[in-house]
Amino acid sequence: MELVKNKVYRCQITDYTADGVGVARIDGRAVFVPRTAVGDQCDVRLVKVTKHVAFGRMERLVVASRARMQPACPVADKCGGCCYQHITYEEELRAKEKKVRDALTRIGRQDGACLRGITGAPSTAHYRNKAQYPVGRDENGRIVTGFYRPRSHAIVPVERCLIQSEKADRIAAAVREWMQDFDVPPFDYQTGRGMVRHIYVRVGEKSGESQLTLIAATRKMPALNELVRRLRACEPSLTGILINHNQRTDNVILGDRTDVLWGEAMLEDRLCGHSFLLSPEAFYQVNHAQAERLYSYAVELAGLTGTETVVELYCGAGTITLALAGQAARVVGVELVPEAVENARSNAARNGVTNVEFICADAGQAARRLPAAGVHPDVLVVDPPRKGLDEGARDAILRLLPPRLVYISCDPATLARDVKELTGAGYTLEEAYAFDLFPRTSHVETVVSLVRKTPDDYIHVKLALDDLDLTAPEAKATYSEIKKYVLEKLGLKVSSLYIAQVKEKYGIIERENYNKSKKEDAVVPQCPKKKEDAIVDALRHFKMIS
Ligand code: SAH
Repeated sequence: MELVKNKVYRCQITDYTADGVGVARIDGRAVFVPRTAVGDQCDVRLVKVTKHVAFGRMERLVVASRARMQPACPVADKCGGCCYQHITYEEELRAKEKKVRDALTRIGRQDGACLRGITGAPSTAHYRNKAQYPVGRDENGRIVTGFYRPRSHAIVPVERCLIQSEKADRIAAAVREWMQDFDVPPFDYQTGRGMVRHIYVRVGEKSGESQLTLIAATRKMPALNELVRRLRACEPSLTGILINHNQRTDNVILGDRTDVLWGEAMLEDRLCGHSFLLSPEAFYQVNHAQAERLYSYAVELAGLTGTETVVELYCGAGTITLALAGQAARVVGVELVPEAVENARSNAARNGVTNVEFICADAGQAARRLPAAGVHPDVLVVDPPRKGLDEGARDAILRLLPPRLVYISCDPATLARDVKELTGAGYTLEEAYAFDLFPRTSHVETVVSLVRKTPDDYIHVKLALDDLDLTAPEAKATYSEIKKYVLEKLGLKVSSLYIAQVKEKYGIIERENYNKSKKEDAVVPQCPKKKEDAIVDALRHFKMIS
């Protein structure tokens, strides 16, 4: 059956996409319908039809799903912030657990049973400790703050957000009023003119403190003293009022320079029993209660006994690092943002934690240098941003070969991609668990543990790594460089496992554990001749064999 744009079809919603959009099937083809619930029967007008899928808008709800509820938010159908205000929280958790399981099975090629469950948040209301409101004008020229519409830069005005802290909304209201009274224009992305870009508020759940960082497009701003006076009067929890200067032309929120207008430069909060001071540039999980649960679980998965060396890549201001430090001999944290590293170092000192060190560097580059610096982690913990591990980081991990790896992720799809790579290179996924840190949105955190398939070989490999000389032939080309060469020159895709097999065959023994298994009957794919020849060609090209 041909699907026709603008025509109305009666549909049954049977699933959600990873972004929380309802999915129906018409004649086997997926139709995406926002703001619907599994179990809804509805009339859907198709707004876009492509060769394989279609996009629709619900015209009429014929039979409502039992999972539906009346959204408490008045802009639930317009705002791009939440996508699950119209379904019960139980249904949302089901959708999120399935999202994680689907990613791990379809992309990660794992058994779905590895996902042990999902922990829902104790509260779905006002849980966020960080708000970044864009500032604009409505059709009458009044100053508004709120959230972008889905896939748009148009602001949906929101004065009271159901997931943000009430402090953030009060602070935003005071800033709007000040802008209105003193004719301070909002920044306009189209013309590049105007002064205020974003209102960034962070609150300390445990400390009760709050901090405003006003993000400005211009160096000069009128009546700042009046802004400070008003803010302090309306929100006594404020401990710092900062101004960040951002003259960039892209949509990155924070610029390079931050000045203190009044009060403290850093916000204090307590997490997992430690006290943290945070710069506005440093990452801090937005859901305090759930972050504590997630981190405790991650530390548990690290399986520490007190003697281990732990490396933690993407450590931010050291929140997990300090939790790990209590159970390990030594923890080395790696983080790219200098302010976060500074925070991490002073946070360690503040809490009297002395067995931690921090490196300010790209995760992959730092991890690559660790063996030469004598660091051989027993456990590696990674908590990368949404895009997951980049090639450099994955390669470095496969050189470090930690016996145990704990991976915390805010995007199940990139996590699953990395799990597929790591399990293809000698790791086994032990278990996975999901935590909902972002109720009412489609986002979900996952933590997984991975172990090396043949832990007995570890000692052996570790000794080899101790001797690692970066001029040795085996260090000449990374696995991805070999893969890239083979793909570009011969159009063949080869796995890390196959490369390892060929390297072993040619005496560049680095990872015998790749093709050995503890289990007698374990099936390990063997590199086909054609691919072996291609890899040999690459090894010759990189002068790793002659
Ligand atoms: N583990 C921390 C931070 C996690 S967020 C916490 O839970 O609080 C991801 C962190 O990775 C951010 O702090 C970000 O600045 C950092 N990051 C992003 N790209 C990076 C890279 N290439 N190398 C190292 N760190 C990076």
